[in-house]
Amino acid sequence: MAHPKEERTYVMIKPDGVRKGLTGEVIRRFEQRDLKIVALEMFQPTRQQISDHYPKDEAWIRRLGQKSITTYQTYHVDPKEKLGTDDELEIGKMVREWLVDYMISAPLVRMIVQGIHAVDVVRKIAGPTLPYKAEVGTIRGDFSIDSPLLANTEKRAVANILHASETPEEAAHEIEHWFGKSAQIHSYKRYGVDE
Ligand code: ADP
Repeated sequence: MAHPKEERTYVMIKPDGVRKGLTGEVIRRFEQRDLKIVALEMFQPTRQQISDHYPKDEAWIRRLGQKSITTYQTYHVDPKEKLGTDDELEIGKMVREWLVDYMISAPLVRMIVQGIHAVDVVRKIAGPTLPYKAEVGTIRGDFSIDSPLLANTEKRAVANILHASETPEEAAHEIEHWFGKSAQIHSYKRYGVDE
């Protein structure tokens, strides 16, 4: 790639994003920021594919559980009463299952986005993980108000419209996972950006 910070990142529009009709809006916001879509497809994932997409190590699962416990503590709700346990690993496993259920509940849109600092810029455009905390102007802040308290009360994962890789290493791994080793990545020059 021409520029040292020209990167590729992996983005997936989640079931709520597809079902809210936000596919075009998400792509528009990336393109508006001079990022390029270089691969794009709608598909129905399998449970196994989604399970393999999210980390399986205990530390990640504990982190997921801990985040839910912190939310419950903030709102003075007893996790034991709501979920039957206050063990972070047990809760983490539960949330991971909800996450898989959510991610296979409708087709997804997968894409590779390329551009300067693409990994960070895409995360910025998406906004932080929890929609109720996301700033207005971000995708999550403009189109969702979901929160872990609401989601976990309904025994489901937080619906936050899209997934975007967090680091260039994660992006490379996810591009390979979702598009295969010989991904068909397209090359073209954007008017006013590449020339
Ligand atoms: P991100 O997707 O922003 O990288 P994480 O990797 O922390 O965020 O979490 C993965 C996904 O799990 C989130 O996008 C969200 O859908 C869901 N999630 C995160 N935290 C919680 C939670 N406390 N309760 C339910 N679902 C959650």
